[in-house]
Amino acid sequence: NQKVVLITGCSSGIGLALAVHIAKDEKKRFMVYATMRNLSKAEPLVEAAGRTLGRTLEIKQLDVCDEASIKACVDSLPERRVDILISNAGMGLIGPIECQSIEEMKSVMDTNFFGLVRLLKEILPDMKRRKKGHIVVISSVMGIQGILFNDIYAASKFALEGFCESLAIQALRFGLNISLIEPGPVITEFERKVYDEGLKIDLSKADKVTADMFTNVYLKNYKQIFETLGQTPEDVAEHTLKIIIMDNPPFRHQTNTLYTPMTTLKYADPNGDLPIETFYKMVFEHDKVFTASLNFIKLLHWRSRKSFKLEKSN
Ligand code: NAD
Repeated sequence: NQKVVLITGCSSGIGLALAVHIAKDEKKRFMVYATMRNLSKAEPLVEAAGRTLGRTLEIKQLDVCDEASIKACVDSLPERRVDILISNAGMGLIGPIECQSIEEMKSVMDTNFFGLVRLLKEILPDMKRRKKGHIVVISSVMGIQGILFNDIYAASKFALEGFCESLAIQALRFGLNISLIEPGPVITEFERKVYDEGLKIDLSKADKVTADMFTNVYLKNYKQIFETLGQTPEDVAEHTLKIIIMDNPPFRHQTNTLYTPMTTLKYADPNGDLPIETFYKMVFEHDKVFTASLNFIKLLHWRSRKSFKLEKSN
């Protein structure tokens, strides 16, 4: 009674770590179908999978923006069965909206949001029929809180969260589970790709204040945020494994305790001003407040890490 796990976006980062971590489960509780858009990029996964390849891990092609490829992949599984779907494929986009084309924005929505919708159109009916299944979505802390110059990316993750919150009510009727995994910054290709794209942005369409804010405030602090708050993809995979083995998995799970002080601000003020004003201060009085905030968060993290370790060893 091995559970079938289908994961999207496994050629790098969190998806790769998830596939390997779950396939290497000592009790062999899972059969992992690690999927990727482009099979020619399978080498790092093949290497990391080691002896699990062909045993508890198989690699398949799946492009979340292509319905036919999703159907072909699901059709190729024994009885088309997926017990746990991990929707991970995604892309980032940073910068002022004046400098982004609608096409670029649409491809973020198409991958991050409609990617999940397409997967579920194919997989949900079978899960409902079997009255069994767990849908796990790699969202982000930006699924609950917007961040400067991540307008479109945050919107795509908010879309995911609204969609899942609505669907979760229906899913209860069928005994299905939905879980949103919300990592803070994770050190992957994603971070580098997004930063490199950010450097290439033609800022001539933005006014001087905006362009300056992007280059000298946002990009300048970008690396520091990842260095201070960044988690490894393996860490996110470990959290996700804990969620998929639970009998009653939570609807939301934040993986980065360093980040919880920020997301808590949202729930602390029903008017919604507190997180916006706090981020504003962090960004614009950054030399003092930003560093002080990061240090404060580091301290909190050190304390909560101790409690997470205790929790795990219990
Ligand atoms: P990544 O760029 O290493 O991985 C994203 C993967 O998705 C890549 O392998 C890419 O090829 C794949 N992908 C993109 N479009 C696809 C498509 N149409 N079909 C199939 N696969 C496609 O970055 P990552 O950090 O591992 O990102 C994985 C997920 O984690 C994303 O949903 C991202 O939004 C989320 N996330 C990342 C961070 C972070 O800081 N890195 C933080 C929170 C959430």
